[in-house]
Amino acid sequence: MGALLGAAIVLAACSTGAPRWFRGNLHTHSLWSDGNDFPEVIARWYKERDYDFLGISDHNTLHAGERWMQVDQVVRRGARVGVKRYRELFGRDWVEMRERDGKQEVRLRRLDEYRPLLEQPGQFLLIQSEEITDAFEKKPIHINATNVQEKITPQHGHSVRDVMRNNLRAVHAQSKRVGEPIVPHLNHPNFGWAVTAEDLAHVLEERFFEVYNGHPSVHQLGDELHASVERIWDIANTLRIAELDSPPLFGLATDDSHNYFNASGSTPGRGWVMVRARELTARAITNALIDGEFYASSGVTLDAVQFDGRDLQLRIRPRPGVTYRTEFRGTRRGYDRSRQPVEHEGKARADLTWRYSADVGAVLAVVEGLAPSYRLRGDELYVRAVVTASRAPDNPVWEGQRAQAWTQPVGWRETLGTVMLHGHAEVPPDPAR
Ligand SMILES: [Zn+2]
Ligand SMILES: [Zn+2]
Repeated sequence: MGALLGAAIVLAACSTGAPRWFRGNLHTHSLWSDGNDFPEVIARWYKERDYDFLGISDHNTLHAGERWMQVDQVVRRGARVGVKRYRELFGRDWVEMRERDGKQEVRLRRLDEYRPLLEQPGQFLLIQSEEITDAFEKKPIHINATNVQEKITPQHGHSVRDVMRNNLRAVHAQSKRVGEPIVPHLNHPNFGWAVTAEDLAHVLEERFFEVYNGHPSVHQLGDELHASVERIWDIANTLRIAELDSPPLFGLATDDSHNYFNASGSTPGRGWVMVRARELTARAITNALIDGEFYASSGVTLDAVQFDGRDLQLRIRPRPGVTYRTEFRGTRRGYDRSRQPVEHEGKARADLTWRYSADVGAVLAVVEGLAPSYRLRGDELYVRAVVTASRAPDNPVWEGQRAQAWTQPVGWRETLGTVMLHGHAEVPPDPAR
């Protein structure tokens, strides 16, 4: 799935070995904002469960500077066992305590302090991250910045799109200034019903969003008035390619975990990305994301995702007793472009994602088995695959949920052709390439 133009350059530049898959979660919270455990304990949880990288993305803060927290507050946030577990896992000497005004306090360790305890070259990587947490009126607009180098304060704006754009521009500006790739992705579009498909289509500074977020409050499936997150993806991608001459969005799966002490709430282990890169470094992982060399998963593993310009081929890793059904979805040139605003209580609600024809994100083929493939006819604006297993994920969010994997859209580079090769006026250049 390499970029047409980028592939040769990337191959020439990195000769450290064949690309391989690395697994990571890029959306996590700790005591540094509204999560309920210490970052070291959280990182250890992921490291022990076969993750290769983790970005702890607290709200509007990096794990930097001096920060003390009352032990009472830590206990209220999570559980009494929290400080005890922290001490047991990392040792009494590591856990720094003091007393202020008769209250016990614990210091939150900085990333530069705990990083050496957890990172292992080629095995486990921590990527500095932040959830830039902004809003327009009452709509939450949250954008993760993966591999951010300096804290970004919310930029605000005069509309949902303006807020998105201002924050994305701040990320791209920092990336350019410091010379490091930083990947911004829009979080949970349906949280607070904040971001519509049309918003996502039109804010061309955005290239990434969460097609799956494991937090139970993010309205993954939509409702009678609101499109599901997957539907939003197909609408936004179709509008971008067909009407805005622009590349589609890439989709991530993340945990957005906050709770590490019981089974309810936003617990870890629900959504992750599998990134195909040549080495496990922040730069290699973020550059691979930029190239679309990844897929999103809530429990299905793909050993191969290949697109040669004509065939999209997957190889699914089998699990005993589990069957797999792959839908190839996309929109064809000449699709029915009709659309209407959602009607509610006699009013047309133009502020919600509109309703589009069934041609948008249509099911182009359904294939059972471990080696599904789809040959493009040539009139597809894009094609993507979504694999659904017969089993539930290990840590399901809703009843009846099935483990899935989502590949990135392909075939669109051929459609956009020269637009992509020569750059689009409104699309910022890939940061720091
Ligand atoms: Zn959020
Ligand atoms: Zn979050």
